[in-house]
Amino acid sequence: MKIAVLSGKGGTGKTTVSSSLALISKMLLIDTDIEEPNSHIFLKGNVEDIKSVYTRFPEVNMEKCNLCGECGNFCKFNAIIPAKKRVIVFGEACHDCGGCEIVCKNGAISWEKREIGKIYTGKTHFNSINKYGELNIGEMSGVKIIKEIYKNTEEKDFLIDCPPGTACTTVSAVEVADFAIIVVEPSPFGLSDMKLVVQLLRDMKIPFGVVINKFDEDENIVKKYCDDEKIEIIGTIPFDRKIAETYSKGEIIAEALPEYRENFETILKRVKSYGN
Ligand code: SF4
Ligand code: SF4
Repeated sequence: MKIAVLSGKGGTGKTTVSSSLALISKMLLIDTDIEEPNSHIFLKGNVEDIKSVYTRFPEVNMEKCNLCGECGNFCKFNAIIPAKKRVIVFGEACHDCGGCEIVCKNGAISWEKREIGKIYTGKTHFNSINKYGELNIGEMSGVKIIKEIYKNTEEKDFLIDCPPGTACTTVSAVEVADFAIIVVEPSPFGLSDMKLVVQLLRDMKIPFGVVINKFDEDENIVKKYCDDEKIEIIGTIPFDRKIAETYSKGEIIAEALPEYRENFETILKRVKSYGN
């Protein structure tokens, strides 16, 4: 079973949940939050393999190019712009769709490649596997890194720490999931961001449940929404200063605070019941 952990925005407890579930289940954890991967800080393992991920961008042979403009008309990202005397390529804006080569009738386009990021694979301190992708600074899209991680993963069961929000990297990360966990804090902002994730998962037809972090019996704004929308709350993590302190030290909650281990065991049990 592939279990994705998502949140409407960063800092809501997504890694708190994914790292504790990784500890309890001993499943492979893939951190696809490529702009800010941090699960490896909690899993405290070693890195056994580093793999570069590349993207292509066009190079124009001006001896063949007649400045017809077709490539520029085709490109939706303004990554290739035919000017008066030459064609200008903005490699960072290119999404490697290959369209400009197809529309160029003069065979003037060939390809250069550059590294956009890396994939790290290693063992955690509790001897399971951890993978994470990291996007190079200045790069605009890490979708290729996420797809490359999945392409090179043989395990059938794993946890996915997704990028926050509903950007295209989140879509790429969650599309392989059998079940998704939305982690949310019970605040008006938390609820508003969560609604977008709910819509995304409904559109993608991925079953999901909600974990309320910093749960307080009096704060029921998320609970009310879930009840109204018939969304199952599969777990809660209480509001406790000790949890925040433990997280800030880079420690896994289910390991450092055994009194909360059961909260994560309950979440895992409920998620797995969807897979049966
Ligand atoms: S489509 Fe080909 S020939 Fe036309 S401007 Fe682009 S590179 Fe040049
Ligand atoms: S490969 Fe696609 S995105 Fe890149 S320059 Fe060509 S048309 Fe634009």
